[in-house]
Amino acid sequence: MTVKPRPTLRDPAPRSLCTDCGVSRMENPALCGKACQFIAPDYPALEQQAHGRNRSGGDETFFGPFQAMYRARMQTPRRGAQWTGITTALGADLLLKGKVDAVLTMISDAEDSWRPQPALVTYPADMAQARGMRMGYAPLLALLEEARAQGFGKLAVIGIPCQIYALRALEAQLGLDRLYVIGTPCSDNTTTENFHHFLSLLDENPDTITYLEFRADFRVELRFADGSQRLIPFLSLPISELPSDFFPLTCRTCVDYTNSLADITVGYMGGTGAQWLLVRNTRGAEMLEGLGDRIVLSAPDSRGKRASAVKGFIANTARAAGGLPLRRMPDWLRPLVSWLQPRIGPRGLEFARARVEMKAAETILHLRREAPAKMKNMIPDHVWNIAAPYGLQPDAGETGPSLVDKYPGGEGARRASEGAGPLSDTKS
Ligand SMILES: Cc1cc2nc3c(=O)[nH]c(=O)nc-3n(C[C@H](O)[C@H](O)[C@H](O)COP(=O)(O)OP(=O)(O)OC[C@H]3O[C@@H](n4cnc5c(N)ncnc54)[C@H](O)[C@@H]3O)c2cc1C
Ligand code: SF4
Ligand code: SF4
Repeated sequence: MTVKPRPTLRDPAPRSLCTDCGVSRMENPALCGKACQFIAPDYPALEQQAHGRNRSGGDETFFGPFQAMYRARMQTPRRGAQWTGITTALGADLLLKGKVDAVLTMISDAEDSWRPQPALVTYPADMAQARGMRMGYAPLLALLEEARAQGFGKLAVIGIPCQIYALRALEAQLGLDRLYVIGTPCSDNTTTENFHHFLSLLDENPDTITYLEFRADFRVELRFADGSQRLIPFLSLPISELPSDFFPLTCRTCVDYTNSLADITVGYMGGTGAQWLLVRNTRGAEMLEGLGDRIVLSAPDSRGKRASAVKGFIANTARAAGGLPLRRMPDWLRPLVSWLQPRIGPRGLEFARARVEMKAAETILHLRREAPAKMKNMIPDHVWNIAAPYGLQPDAGETGPSLVDKYPGGEGARRASEGAGPLSDTKS
C-alpha cells in the first residue's frame, strides 16, 4: 500500500508570524485569529480542555501537565525511525485496532526527503513512510478538511507544538467523533532550504546525509547513505557561519517546547540517550497501553546542575538578540569542554529543564527586540514563570493582567531605574 498523494491545497493567506500550519489554507482562513500560537494563545484554557487541569508546579511548570513520565524505547527499533519509532508505532497501533480511520502526519516529499508533506495514512504498514524527522514546515491541518470530505470521524494527529496548539483551538468545531493527539517536542526548526544550507556546512557531500539529530549528549549525530555515522560536538557546529535570520522569529519565540497540549508527547530530551515519554491524560495512557510489551519503559534519570549552562546561554542570546556577535570559546578550549559536557553537564530531566529554560529566555529576548508589541498577548504566564529565576521578568506592558501583581516592578523596569536600558541592548 502507498499513501495517496495529498489533494491540491489553497495558497496560504499572508500572515506575519506563521509556520504555515495549514489553518490559513482552510475554507475560512480567518480561523487563524482563534487558532494561532503566535497571536493570542490561551494555554490555561486549552490545558483544561485537553487534560481537565492546568500545570501544577514541580516539573509540570517546565513540561506541562502529565500523569506519568518515562524513559522509553521500542523493544525492536523501527528501521528509518528518528529514534526507535514510538511515535509512528502509536499511530500504526491505532489504525490496526480500528480506533481511528486515519492518522494525519508528515511523510517526505517525493523529490526531497528532508521536506515534510502532510498525509492522511489509513493502513498501519504505511506509517513506515512517516518515520524520521524532516526539517521545515508543511500545512498539516489543511488536510483536516480532506479528512472530513472522506468521512473520517475518528482521527489521530501527529504534530509539532505550533500545529497541535491550532488543532486544540479548533477541536470543538471539527465535529470529530474521536481525536487522538500525539505530539513531539520541537525547537530550532527552519525552512527546508535553510536546512540544506546547514547540511552543506557540515559535510562536503551534503546530499549523502540521511539522518541528523541533536542528541542529549551534546553532540549532533549524522548518518550517511553508505551506512557510516559521524558525531559532531555542539561546540564544533558552524553556528557562527549561519545568517542571523537562519532560524525564523517564529521558532526563536515559540512558547511550547514540550507540546503540552498533546495526549502523549514523544521526545528524547529527558531520556538520557533513550526516548522520553510524557503521558498527559487518559487518552495518552490508552495509546501507550496499546503498545503492550513492544515498548520498554523505565524511570527517567536526572543528574548535574543546569543553572550555569542556562545563564551562559542567556548571556549569549542577549548579545545575539541585540545584534552583537556571539561570545566564542577559544578553539583550544573546545575539545576539553566538548569532552566534559556529556560527563558533568545536565543530564536526563535536568537537561530537559535546561532546554526549556533556555527556550523561554530566547522567546522573551527575541520578542523584546524584534516584536515587542506581540509580547503581551503572545507570551503565556508559564514562560514568564520559567524565565523568572534568571532575572527575566515582564516590563510594564509586556504581560496581561494575571502577572502584573506577581512581577510589579519587572526586570525591564529595574534596568530602566538603573539607567541600563533593556537587557537586549546590553553591550557587555
Ligand atoms: C523540527 C523538529 C525539531 C525537534 N526538536 C526536538 C527537541 O529539541 N527535543 C526533543 O526531545 N525532540 C525533538 N523533536 C522530536 C524528535 O526528533 C523525534 O521526532 C521524536 O523523539 C520521535 O521519535 P520517534 O523515533 O518516536 O519518531 P518516528 O517514529 O520516526 O516518527 C517521527 C514523526 O515525526 C513526524 N515529523 C517528522 N518531521 C516533521 C516535521 N518537520 N513536522 C511535523 N512532524 C514531523 C513524522 O511525520 C512522524 O510521525 C523534534 C522534531 C522535529 C520535527
Ligand atoms: S501558524 Fe497556522 S494559525 Fe498561525 S497564522 Fe500561520 S496558518 Fe494561521
Ligand atoms: S520551533 Fe515552535 S514554532 Fe518552530 S516549527 Fe517548532 S513548534 Fe513550530
